[in-house]
Amino acid sequence: MTRYYWLVEDKAATSRHAGDINAAHRWKLPGLANCPGCGETWASVGHYYPAVDLSALPEQTSFLKARPEPFSEYARLRELVRPLAPPHAPLPPGTRFGPLEGTARGDLGPLTWVGNALLLMREDSLKQLQMKDVRDLMGGGSASLRFRQKSPPAYFEPQIPLRGRLHPDCLPTDTAPPCGTCGRVDLSRPDEPLLDASALPSELDLFRVGNFATMLVGTERFRDAVLQSKLDGIRFLELPVR
Ligand SMILES: [Zn+2]
Repeated sequence: MTRYYWLVEDKAATSRHAGDINAAHRWKLPGLANCPGCGETWASVGHYYPAVDLSALPEQTSFLKARPEPFSEYARLRELVRPLAPPHAPLPPGTRFGPLEGTARGDLGPLTWVGNALLLMREDSLKQLQMKDVRDLMGGGSASLRFRQKSPPAYFEPQIPLRGRLHPDCLPTDTAPPCGTCGRVDLSRPDEPLLDASALPSELDLFRVGNFATMLVGTERFRDAVLQSKLDGIRFLELPVR
């Protein structure tokens, strides 16, 4: 049976490289102000679609600035994007699209992170992983990073699909159902996350947990490919499956 690993930044490795990135995706859905269902003002983290291009939308300027909007405006903009997004993508408030843009300096290493939920691969790292038959690393986009140094390396952001879910046994029993209006769930990451065996994807080596998008998961095949290629930057924490 395949083993699954939660991917987190290996800070010992990334601090050795001592590079730095300041970047964000070009387009975003607004956050939600005062949901008429649950009353919350919020935006999601971890819903990133670097391969989704909004440049053909007549209203693309409405997607440039991160800000909260009332539900009607968020929902209107969400429906403009939906035909361009992957089928069944949930598109919560704060979903990001298009290339990561910004500045970088120093050595970022073969695999690097922006925050704790966005993984970037140097182009040569991506090629090595593809040669080792890691599945579904084709989708995504090149990060548009301005470096000060000459001939800087190119980085790629894989578009990592949402799949699977945390097992109910690792969540508090009093977890409320999602808001019927905006879909928000008040969930903090469990101390001992468990994957639900009945919902695991069989066709992917890298995914985000369906009900916890900031958690990146790789299969044993992904981990082996990274370790064999000697690409540092990721710590692999085995996730039990039930
Ligand atoms: Zn709500």
